[in-house]
Amino acid sequence: VKQQGGNSLIFYTEDMNKETVRRLEIEGSLRKALEKDELFIAYQPIINTQSRELSTCEALLRWNHPELGLIPPTTFIPIAEETGMIHEIGYWVLKKACKQIKEWQNDGMPHLCVSVNVSAHQLQNNRFIDEVKSALEYSGLEARYLYLELTESAMLKYASDTIEMMRKLGELGVNISIDDFGTGYSSLSYLKNLPIHHLKIDRSFIQCFRMDSPDFAIVNAIMTMGHGLGLNIVAEGVETKDQLTLLTKIGCDFVQGYYVEKPMQPDQFYSWHQNMKVY
Ligand code: C2E
Ligand code: CA
Ligand code: CA
Ligand code: CA
Repeated sequence: VKQQGGNSLIFYTEDMNKETVRRLEIEGSLRKALEKDELFIAYQPIINTQSRELSTCEALLRWNHPELGLIPPTTFIPIAEETGMIHEIGYWVLKKACKQIKEWQNDGMPHLCVSVNVSAHQLQNNRFIDEVKSALEYSGLEARYLYLELTESAMLKYASDTIEMMRKLGELGVNISIDDFGTGYSSLSYLKNLPIHHLKIDRSFIQCFRMDSPDFAIVNAIMTMGHGLGLNIVAEGVETKDQLTLLTKIGCDFVQGYYVEKPMQPDQFYSWHQNMKVY
């Protein structure tokens, strides 16, 4: 217990100390993780509900820490954002993912697209547009095969800069997906003014998605609105055959989730595709 002027007290529990130490450890070793080749990308398939064919894969960052083991992105991405490392890491992901997809395109998946998560912090950086250009040039991937996933909450922050950046990205020919759609409390007006191509319905609406659930009404409404605006709809977190069937029935364009496959290491993804079953 520490005295802090007046009579306000701050309690330091052992847990908080442990958490702080862990954070500092992570921060220190994240700086070296890129050089030491501890980061890698897992790829999760996104399939077309009509053709049931592979359409896209989402690039999901992984960190294999020598002592702590596999650290989830939800733990280290926020630290990378706070420390500014997200710029370097984000650029690395972009280049690596574009290169990988170009290789797979040359190797039997000619129309495969890739979807890369972009942090709101990256979007605020003026250099971001040049980084996207460089990643495309470096990999030889055509812009139309690249999707950038921005969260709905990223649209809220720093609105005018964000809009300007998205316009430039649109001119470059890359596609934009709104990730975690339905969770951001933002106004919907940006949907009509910006170059957006996909809406990804957040997993939380799919989890208990059944004909008789409140989520059904929400998902249906998103579908109608999205299609009315000429957007494609992706449902994420699809875990059962029933969810896939119902989503297909109401016109959802793409699905992603454990029912199809979990995120996979590159070589696993490649062999999965070669033996792809009918869903
Ligand atoms: P997200 O963009 O919403 O990614 C989807 C998350 O849902 C992934 O978690 C994925 O593994 C998980 N998922 C996919 N299908 C299912 C399913 O059927 N059931 C369940 N329960 N989960 C499913 P992951 O890989 O742990 O990533 C978590 C978050 O970390 C991502 O959420 C994204 O916000 C962030 N992230 C991951 N990679 C990057 C990156 O390269 N850059 C940035 N800025 N953020 C990233
Ligand atoms: Ca995502
Ligand atoms: Ca998501
Ligand atoms: Ca999410």
